[in-house]
Amino acid sequence: MKPQPKSGVLDIEIYVPGKSRAPEGIKLHKLSSNETPLGPPPAAVEAARQALLHLEQYPDGQASDLKAAIAEVHGLNPKNILCGNGSDELLGLLCQCYLGPGDEAIHTEHGFLVYGIQIRAAGATPVVAPEKDRTADVDAILARVTEKTKLVFLANPNNPTGTYLPFDEVRRLQAGLPGNVVLVLDAAYAEYVRRNDYGAGVELVSATDNVVMTRTFSKIYGLAGLRVGWLYGPETIVSTLDRVRGPFNLNAAAIAAGAAAARDRAFVEEAARFNAEWLEWTAKALEGLGLEVTPSVGNFLLVHFDDAAGRGAAEADAFLTERGFIMRRVAGYGFPNALRMSIGTEEANRGAVAALAEFLGRSS
Ligand code: PMP
Repeated sequence: MKPQPKSGVLDIEIYVPGKSRAPEGIKLHKLSSNETPLGPPPAAVEAARQALLHLEQYPDGQASDLKAAIAEVHGLNPKNILCGNGSDELLGLLCQCYLGPGDEAIHTEHGFLVYGIQIRAAGATPVVAPEKDRTADVDAILARVTEKTKLVFLANPNNPTGTYLPFDEVRRLQAGLPGNVVLVLDAAYAEYVRRNDYGAGVELVSATDNVVMTRTFSKIYGLAGLRVGWLYGPETIVSTLDRVRGPFNLNAAAIAAGAAAARDRAFVEEAARFNAEWLEWTAKALEGLGLEVTPSVGNFLLVHFDDAAGRGAAEADAFLTERGFIMRRVAGYGFPNALRMSIGTEEANRGAVAALAEFLGRSS
């Protein structure tokens, strides 16, 4: 007999991240992982550099300074915050602590791939709720709740669609769930959203005892390489996850850089402004080429190649890669004929549009 992993684990498809290479000698414009084109905040780089001088020491297992910075900036109590090695880790901890064999967890049709992976890794069953107009559908989610349901994942805004659910709808979702079901609001892209009817979830977490919100420093804060995420939730849930996490789940450079980045509010404001400007420009330019683009409030666009263009995403991807523009294939998310493009530098955005115009045989 050979060792066998627990049931369900071998059904998991390996998560393949966005490509990060261009052909030799071609300038790389990596637009495949929704990273910021603006780099990390200089204050965070300096804080990380200082932390590297003490590598012989374990990091602070409580990540106290990082929690304090997050609490200060968002007006929260540090007791309600848990930091993770990226928000991916926190999503996994939620599954580890709240799911087991026989349980179900719901996510939406085009939801973030990590949900399905972590639900299966916990031995539970993912239940997929269809979307409406590539947007989460509260009624479809609620219709799938059974007595086996323990978690509901909602990425808001969602990756890879870039669509969002207005706060009233999120509130309606929470109100419709049984009290023992934890609603996970994954707000990885919250800082980019400029809509009055959007809320990342802070108010809902504060007002209820079955909602958590996850956030990340990987996107607008420019620290994807250090892996820093955080969760805001009721003390009982935070303390549950706290027991199961690795004792030193964040490294010292991540804690120091995260705290410095959290406090650099001017950096985030400028990054949000830059993104809004280029998100709009890029969406319009792509539509001008006859491509369908899903309306996005994040830092990326889902670009469809179906009817308008007549040629497929795979060909477009190969054409773009040859020219150094690396985008994300999203077949694994249920979009075989689309590419996800992160908003990049001005040069990258203009260059990608020009390359797509060439691909389609049109002028940009
Ligand atoms: N949630 C969503 C919706 C994401 O798109 C991502 C990053 N791709 C994450 C969570 C994970 O972010 P990280 O682990 O880098 O914090």
